[in-house]
Order: sequence, then C-alpha cells, then structure tokens
Amino acid sequence: MMDSFVPVAKPYIGPKEKEYVQEAVQNGWISSAGEFIQKFEQLNADFNGVKYGVAVSNGTVALHLALVALGIGPGDEVIIPNLTFAATANAVLYTGATPVLADVEFDSWTINIDKAEKLVNESTRAIIPVHLYGQPCDMKKIMAFSKKYDLYVIEDCAEAHGAEYNGSRVGSFGNISCFSFYGNKIITCGEGGICLTNDLNLYEKMNELRDHGMSKKRRYWHNSVGFNYRMTNIQAAVGCAQIERINEILEKRWLISKYYNECLKPYGIFQLQSDCSDRKKVCWLYTVLVDLKKVDQSIDDLRNKLHEFNIDSRTIFFPLHQMPPYKNLKKTDQRCSIEISKRGISLPTFEELPEKTIEDICGVLIKITGAL
Ligand SMILES: *Cc1c(COP(=O)(O)O)cnc(C)c1O
Repeated sequence: MMDSFVPVAKPYIGPKEKEYVQEAVQNGWISSAGEFIQKFEQLNADFNGVKYGVAVSNGTVALHLALVALGIGPGDEVIIPNLTFAATANAVLYTGATPVLADVEFDSWTINIDKAEKLVNESTRAIIPVHLYGQPCDMKKIMAFSKKYDLYVIEDCAEAHGAEYNGSRVGSFGNISCFSFYGNKIITCGEGGICLTNDLNLYEKMNELRDHGMSKKRRYWHNSVGFNYRMTNIQAAVGCAQIERINEILEKRWLISKYYNECLKPYGIFQLQSDCSDRKKVCWLYTVLVDLKKVDQSIDDLRNKLHEFNIDSRTIFFPLHQMPPYKNLKKTDQRCSIEISKRGISLPTFEELPEKTIEDICGVLIKITGAL
C-alpha cells in the first residue's frame, strides 16, 4: 500500500512558472495580448524546427483551426487512426467533414498506411497521423502516401512533444502540426495548444481565424467567420517556463520509462510499444500491453486492484468505432486497435515520480498479476 495516492499524471509547476505568471499578473497583461504569447510561439517553433507558431486555447481547437485553414469542410473525408483521443475525430466533425478510420500497426500503435490506402477515394482531402503515447508515426511512408494522393498532412503531436523521426522533430513534416498543453501532457499551460507551420499563407490564415477572422491591418474589419481560440498571456507564461526546460523534462520522462522497463522486463508478460531505428520515442504516459491469457484477468481487474493499493492507472483509448458518435464511420478492419486497447494499461508518469515509487508500483503490479 502506498502512503498516499499516486496519480497517473501530475503537472510540475516550478519557481520559473510562478515567476513568469506573477510577472504577467503584476503588469496587467492577463488577456490574450502580452509578450509571453509571442515568446511561447517562437520557442515552440524553434524547438521543433518549424518557422511559425499560432498559440491557441487548447489542442482540440488547434486541430480545428488547422483543418479550417486548409479549407476542409462538408463533403470532405479525413483519414485518422481508430486508436486516438476523441478530439482528433471531433475536430474533423466540427468542420462538417467526415473522419474515416484506419486501423493502427500492432507494434508501433500508430496509423497503418497500407490499411489507410483502402479508404482513399475522390473525397479524401487530408490525413491526421497521431504520434500516439510518444511514438512517432512512419512519416516517410505517410509523406509518400500524401504525395501520391495529393492529401494534406496534419500531424497530431499532442502526446509526442520532442519525439523524432529520422533526426527531425515530429511536427516538422506536415502542412500543419498541432500540439496540446493540457495538464497531463509533456509540457503544459494548464490548458493550451499550438499550430506550427512552415507556410506563411497558412500562418496568416490561422493567426486571423484564431482572432474572430479580424484583419491584422484594419481592426474590427472581419475577413471571415473566425473563432476566439486565443491563448492568454498567463497560459503562455506557464508555457514559456515549461518549454525553457523541455530537454530536462524529456530526460526525466525517459529515465522514468527506462526504470519501469527494467523493473517489468524480467517477467515476460508486458509488451512495450516498439522501438524503431528511424524513430526516437518520448515517454508521455508509460504504457504497456499485458499478456491477459497468462495473467488470466482483464485490465479493469488489474486497475481495480492497483487502486486498492492507492495506485492510479489508465486504460488505453477505446477504439473510436466502438463508441456511439463514431460507430457508423467508414473504416478498415480494426483488429490491432481492438487488441491494443483491450490489453493496454498506463502507469503513473510525471516529473516528480521517485524511483522508489516506480519500484513499489511494479512490485504491486507483479504481485497482482501473479507473475512472481
Ligand atoms: C490531448 C489530446 C488532444 C487534445 O488536446 P486538448 O488540449 O485536451 O484539447 C488531441 N489529440 C490527442 C492525441 C491528445 O492526446
């Protein structure tokens, strides 16, 4: 039994975050003008090797803004993976376009392009690869696929800030890439998101659409029906402090996953997301697949038992096609999404998680699976 409840995720708000927030509050720039916003956009663009950033209020609206800027709407189809957070699908639905669901690869847990290809028709306009649980998608294959069928690529990087494919950061491949800074993400603003792009025209479009479609040259002149998707200077203040030490955060998370691996590997009942030589994963939530036949119980059984020991955990996302709003969407076979979802469990992963606690969590997990 743990002395106190161990949550699955928890933001670390350090002295720099507090200092910057205080600065924003003290000088009165608490709304969506103020110097932290542009600084945050620039730091994110630089870190990911992309030219322009448009900070927004959360990751979901980042996806929506990207789709609208690319002109996607009613009658269009957008290919997404079946295994992802619902926001990926919802953002497509908000535009009036239709998401179509491709299964994922069993080893990487990311979108299977061979299966995605079966969904392509004359209405297909874009694909949203999701770098799930810190694993980069096969971007070489995705970029070749998008070229072949003339599709836009919107990268959903919400769970993979800092991950790399062939030496380039995720988020630097697509027409637009979207990030989330929710409290449980790799870096946080409390709530927040950003769209990155190398295309000046798309940057200007998103910059205008985020602010009611208002002209940047002529105030209160509206060029389109835009949105209020602005980020506040207070959010950006937290974000600046976070991204200034992102390398340290990524290193800490990498050590956590390494330590979990060492503790769990000897038992042979846990399967990790694959390591591909062309990809550098980051650790978002430490997540493994359990050999349910060997442990002879369900993930929910295991999670309930962990909870009795004061240890929080999470299931992997449910396959979208199983849930009411998405059950009638066009799809490929969904064998791998189903299998991964049924067998996956996420364990506590946050900056201040001590090694000793990881050891204790693994000890409990081993005990309740009966693997010892
Ligand atoms: C968190 C997340 C989002 C949405 O981000 P919010 O900031 O919560 O709106 C989108 N896609 C994926 C894959 C996510 O994990």
